[in-house]
Amino acid sequence: MSSSNRVARGLERLGHPSFGVRQWLLWLVLSVLLAAWVYGQVRGWQSAKEIAAGSGRLEVLAAALHTELSRHEALPGVLGMDPRLAAALTQAGVAQHLERANQYLRHVQAQSGAEAVYLIDRTGLTIASSNAGDPDSFVGENYAFRPYVIDALKTGFGRFYAIGATTSRPGYFLASAVRQDGAVLGVVAVKVALTAFEASLAAGPWPTLVLEDNGVVILSSDRALRYRSLTPLSDEQRAAIKNTRQFDGEGLQPLLAGTAAPLQVAAQEREIERLIGADHELVSRNIADKGWRVVAFVNTPTAQTFAAVSAAFVLSVGMGCALLLHAVALRRARQHDLREREHEIRRRIEDGTRQLREQIEEQARNAVMLRRTTDSAVQAGKLAVLGQMAAAISHELNQPLTAMHNFAETALVFLGSGQDAAAAGNLRRIVSLCDRMGQIVGHLRSYARKQPGPPSAVDVRSTIDAALQLLRAAQNRAVPISVSVEPPQLMVVARPVRLEQVLLNLLRNALDAQPTQPAGAAPVVSARGVGDKVVIEVRDHGPGLSDEAMAHLFEPFFTTKPSGEGLGLGLAVSKMIVRELGGELSAHKGEERGAVFRVELQRAGAGRARSGVPETAEAQR
Ligand code: ADP
Repeated sequence: MSSSNRVARGLERLGHPSFGVRQWLLWLVLSVLLAAWVYGQVRGWQSAKEIAAGSGRLEVLAAALHTELSRHEALPGVLGMDPRLAAALTQAGVAQHLERANQYLRHVQAQSGAEAVYLIDRTGLTIASSNAGDPDSFVGENYAFRPYVIDALKTGFGRFYAIGATTSRPGYFLASAVRQDGAVLGVVAVKVALTAFEASLAAGPWPTLVLEDNGVVILSSDRALRYRSLTPLSDEQRAAIKNTRQFDGEGLQPLLAGTAAPLQVAAQEREIERLIGADHELVSRNIADKGWRVVAFVNTPTAQTFAAVSAAFVLSVGMGCALLLHAVALRRARQHDLREREHEIRRRIEDGTRQLREQIEEQARNAVMLRRTTDSAVQAGKLAVLGQMAAAISHELNQPLTAMHNFAETALVFLGSGQDAAAAGNLRRIVSLCDRMGQIVGHLRSYARKQPGPPSAVDVRSTIDAALQLLRAAQNRAVPISVSVEPPQLMVVARPVRLEQVLLNLLRNALDAQPTQPAGAAPVVSARGVGDKVVIEVRDHGPGLSDEAMAHLFEPFFTTKPSGEGLGLGLAVSKMIVRELGGELSAHKGEERGAVFRVELQRAGAGRARSGVPETAEAQR
């Protein structure tokens, strides 16, 4: 058994040969649930993969930023030890010292790649700078408000990220105290631009921010987010920022408006997620020692697409399975229907066959009954005719009997008186009368006798020939009768001897009707098949049939022949015989003259199936 058949069998056993609306809905809901589960799982796996990749990149970014920030960290300390800077600070009025300091700082700036390197005195005033003489020169600017200056003067080292108060360009400021004999003379500061690093943020695939200590975005892959505080800043923070002019000219609008209290890191991250979009996963790294944080929002569209495709696949497989099951179930149901219909048809055929058999048996019984009835009727008809004939016969026989009686008595008288010749004459008459009576009785016997067996197929030509032969033998002469049979092998349903009798009688009458025939006008016997009938006609060229003869032809003892020549029984007997064979004998006037006697019988072969007549029955003759 194939697996689809097994499934369909299973469905049939469950009583669900096919899917209804409820089954479809249930299946759909299950498929959707499964697809949703698959979506979640695949998205989780895929997101985890992408987040891992994002974390890796963030690690690299954090390390790069740390390196970038740390790269120049030692520079101010080294510069602070240079006597040229100390000289400039101690002898600020000497232009030569200031010029040498400017040259030195310019050289250092060029070598280090820093944006600017400059020297600040204890009051915060910039006295020398790598950009001295430039339009945006720091020289003459006072940076006493900057924490890195304050810290450096106070602790020996300061660092700070701010928008340049002079250039308005952001930068990372590193400062170190310049000392001489342990006394702080001033501060040497290095400004490092992080533009290259920021550009590398923008090159990445996800939004990435760098937050400073207060949670203000200082570097961003998206410039619109720069200098936005993550959350609203406190008044102290705002005051401090204002004092240090860290983000001069920037409103520091909070990214997360309406959130009053400073948020914890985790809460911040959730808020950022909300801000950036749910499609992003937040990953962050602290920059060691700097108090900064790099935050990236890993976008996971690939994970979503992958998950969506997987879910769609699961859904389609689910629905495909449902369709398949449905189709299999439908096929099974259709096969079942077909089998049912086949059984029904077979049952109907069997019923029909049985009914047909019963009808045939019934018909056969009826046919037997009919045959018996017909036979009895025919027999009864014959008896009736015999009854009719009885009077005529008794009359016909009575006359010769009376005559014979008289002839015998007279003969006795003649013998008693010695008139032997006269007696012999009487006896001859008696013999002649006996012959006539014998003829009558013979005729009656011939048709009163019932020939056994059913009619059979009889060759017409042979029967005509046999009749002609008998006729020639009886007449003892050549008989000029022409014969035509079309088709030559014409077969008729008859009893051969009976048919011969009929033909012999008709032929004899035809010859009698024209004892002397005109040349070329011999009587004609023709036989032809007409449909399922055979028509045999005996045509002569004699005087024909008078109206009176037409009216009485087939009555027994009707004869126009002289006494002793005709009994008038031939046609009556012939009619009886033809009827007995299921046919008809009729008499007609010839077209010009003469008479036509027509025998119509069933053609053998045409109605064979009906009559049950064998193909040939010559042997039965
Ligand atoms: P039968 O020949 O002994 O007279 P049938 O019954 O054979 O008896 O014929 C009856 C009568 O029908 C005949 O006497 C004759 O008058 C008439 N008849 C029969 N055949 C012919 C015929 N071919 N032409 C004219 N009359 C005929």
